[in-house]
Amino acid sequence: MIQDINPKHFYNQFHKEAIKPLDYIISFHSNLIFAREAGRDLDFIRYEDFFKWRENIHGNIEAEKKAEQEREKEFHFTYLFAIDRQKYFLLKEDVELEIPGFVYCKMFDIRRRAPKYQVMAASTAWHLHVWYRDNRFCGRCGEKTEEDEKERMLRCPACGNRVFPKVAPAVIVAVTDGNRILMTKYANREYKRYALIAGFTEIGETVEETVRREVMEEVGLHVKNIRYYKSQPWGFDLNLLLGFFCELDDTASIHMDEGELALAEWMKREDVPDYGEDLSLTHEMMRVFKEGGTDKRRIY
Ligand SMILES: [Zn+2]
Repeated sequence: MIQDINPKHFYNQFHKEAIKPLDYIISFHSNLIFAREAGRDLDFIRYEDFFKWRENIHGNIEAEKKAEQEREKEFHFTYLFAIDRQKYFLLKEDVELEIPGFVYCKMFDIRRRAPKYQVMAASTAWHLHVWYRDNRFCGRCGEKTEEDEKERMLRCPACGNRVFPKVAPAVIVAVTDGNRILMTKYANREYKRYALIAGFTEIGETVEETVRREVMEEVGLHVKNIRYYKSQPWGFDLNLLLGFFCELDDTASIHMDEGELALAEWMKREDVPDYGEDLSLTHEMMRVFKEGGTDKRRIY
């Protein structure tokens, strides 16, 4: 899955620190991410590339000290995380960079790139970027928020409101019935392949209740024997995904919600497609079932 980047290690602990020449910069512009052009390994610019770009457009500034002061006024970088010793920073300003070999890419297209640890970096950076972008002002009193020095938190200097990053829990549900599994395709989404039932947890419900409710809403069926499988951070949609297997407990036939789904059908184990990707929890669960898991052995 996206988080399985062994032997590399993802460190998400927050520190307040200054950016250095070889640190990565992740920059977003109008929902697009600035990355190495398609057809090559997914990569990001380093601070030294950004510095050169900035010098080119602003001309040569004589004193290094003056440049430093100017830079601090115009551009702000926030430490995001590290993968091994490589640090990633977010460029807070929405500027349009022009650096040869790098282009603005759709987040959806980033999913199909390699190496996987850079996809994980892009997804997590997007999640944090959306949080910073959407909380520049206090939702309680309207004052401009400030970044905390010690924690990944935004603080309102006027009313003391503290805003932490939001993670939205959602479930992925594999409904099985003997040798078959319920497969779906989403309506009105960019993603066109087979998927499983999925949905956000509502306020006031447990994730097990989310499983029951989502299956009922999307396909009109009752389920039993709900078993937790694994979880996955999915920054593309600001989620923490929780995977569950469960069994059909109904004699009714599928009654599909056409607003949510374009297709819902039972598929035999051997017919489950293997798209050959190892990014998503959905595909891992489909593969586990295809290979005979869930009802023959412990699932985790
Ligand atoms: Zn406030």
